[in-house]
Amino acid sequence: MKRKLLIVLALAWVFGTGAAAPVRMTPVKVTDGVYMLEHSRGSGNSTVVITSDGVLVLDFHIENADQTLAAIRKLTDKNVRYLISSHSAGDHASGAWHFREDKPIYIATKNQIHDLQMQEQKEFDERKNSSDPRYALYKGRELVKPDIAFDGQMTLYFGGLTFQITAEGRGHSTGDLTVYIPQKRVMLMGDLLDTEIHPGQGESGEIFYSNVKGWIRILDNIMARNLPVETYVPGHGPVHVGRGVKDLEEQKRYFVVMRDEVAKMMQAGKSLEQIEKEFKVPQEFAHYKRPERLRQFYKLFFHQLAETGY
Ligand SMILES: [Zn+2]
Repeated sequence: MKRKLLIVLALAWVFGTGAAAPVRMTPVKVTDGVYMLEHSRGSGNSTVVITSDGVLVLDFHIENADQTLAAIRKLTDKNVRYLISSHSAGDHASGAWHFREDKPIYIATKNQIHDLQMQEQKEFDERKNSSDPRYALYKGRELVKPDIAFDGQMTLYFGGLTFQITAEGRGHSTGDLTVYIPQKRVMLMGDLLDTEIHPGQGESGEIFYSNVKGWIRILDNIMARNLPVETYVPGHGPVHVGRGVKDLEEQKRYFVVMRDEVAKMMQAGKSLEQIEKEFKVPQEFAHYKRPERLRQFYKLFFHQLAETGY
């Protein structure tokens, strides 16, 4: 009896954490030369841009960027020349080590350097020194830091393409950057855009940053540019090729509608604990995955409304 219970518990753990199925990064073609590697469990995606002069990669997790590199090796014989991380969270900025053989130049915002130095390095080292089998793959690996840091905007001309790289300011994290490639009509959004998935709190080494007002403002700023973008590539969730600005509109609406619902419950005198228990996700977002992420956002909506009204 006891053994049966143990087996049931073990199975529950395996399925509960998804430990049974290894992570797969599946390449999805966005347009010629642009591929998004979609994370099988809705964690950070990785995007690859192949040019005549080499490859640029946005976002790389130490736990799975080897799969991004393997996909690149299948698609082209060109080297990886540039790396860019959208923000400093581990699922986007910890995996530059995998590309070391190609000696790429790694570009990030200045605030990312700060976060990598102050938080991410600590988390990486803790995992590296941990005996927890989940972190076994950190052994012998290094957290590679960026070579070039910028504030504001920078433009990279590479392989006949223009990469307009913009630090969008505080919203999801202390500052996510976007990469707009006009010749491809794509914009890489990092975690400012999550599709079919509840957005995650910006995090770096367990320090949390997200700010709903800032996130909405950034989406408004990007939409106000009226760019000829065919596809906005998300940091998490599947890429909607050709859906254009509708993805950004949906992401903005998500925050506005969800915050509205929390405000209505506050108006009815509900506590945060009651909201966490009783909240009903509106129809439009009911199919979104990873509902466990909602908990952090109930807190954000609740406290940010009470603090400043946004
Ligand atoms: Zn992420």
